Amino acid sequence: MVKDLKDMGINVLGETFKRLPGTDGSFTRVTEHIGQLHFNTFIPVAVWVVDIDGGGYVLIDSGYFNCNVEVGLKNAGYEEPPNALVITHCHLDHTGTAARLVRQWDLPVIASAEEAPFIDGSMSLSEAVSSGAQKAFLGLSSRWNMMTGEPVSVSQPVSEGDLVEGLRIIDVPGHTPGHIALVHEGDGAVIVGDTFGNFLNRIGRWPFPGIDTDRDEGLRSIEKLADLGYEKLLPSHGEPILKDGIGRLRMFLDE
Ligand SMILES: [Zn+2]
Repeated sequence: MVKDLKDMGINVLGETFKRLPGTDGSFTRVTEHIGQLHFNTFIPVAVWVVDIDGGGYVLIDSGYFNCNVEVGLKNAGYEEPPNALVITHCHLDHTGTAARLVRQWDLPVIASAEEAPFIDGSMSLSEAVSSGAQKAFLGLSSRWNMMTGEPVSVSQPVSEGDLVEGLRIIDVPGHTPGHIALVHEGDGAVIVGDTFGNFLNRIGRWPFPGIDTDRDEGLRSIEKLADLGYEKLLPSHGEPILKDGIGRLRMFLDE
């Protein structure tokens, strides 16, 4: 009999990550305005730091619980808090420090209206899927707090086409229902979150089939990214793609 660990007050991955040693991350400038705080923990993950021409910067995603985003920023020369935190989607490696950063800095939290209920904990990802096995998997993940981070309210829900600190919002659902990507027009770059990963110079989807809420929709989102026409593509997991992004995506889609 499977116990409901969340009801027992046990947050399986959340608590595990809190006990992991913290990691300060390393900073690399990727494009003129975009830097990557890279955290080599569990599955390596990026937190993007986007400099705003008008002043300040925004954070895109917030890493796992054990990512010392604050220290990483300081080490990279960012002394002031960010203007805002944008969350591409609800998974715990993107929302892990969000609640903590908001408590500390009183930041606006920006995400899509569709994703907001999964980020603030009012809905479980299992409610977003219909199929039996996947619903069961996501239901268990939710009860065991394996997929999402500490809930945090989305103060500024956005939708396709909105501009956030100069970044254009693009809906790329599939990995989660309200996943967004962000276009930096000036740098010709797209922050793609988990629309795909890029390990060992190879674009790929998540091997564990239950993780994407809708794999077909996710493929259509990759096609949408290819049609956007930007060559620099910055995934949360794996290496940034700084040239021939469209060709790389087309090759993946043709496989
Ligand atoms: Zn994810």
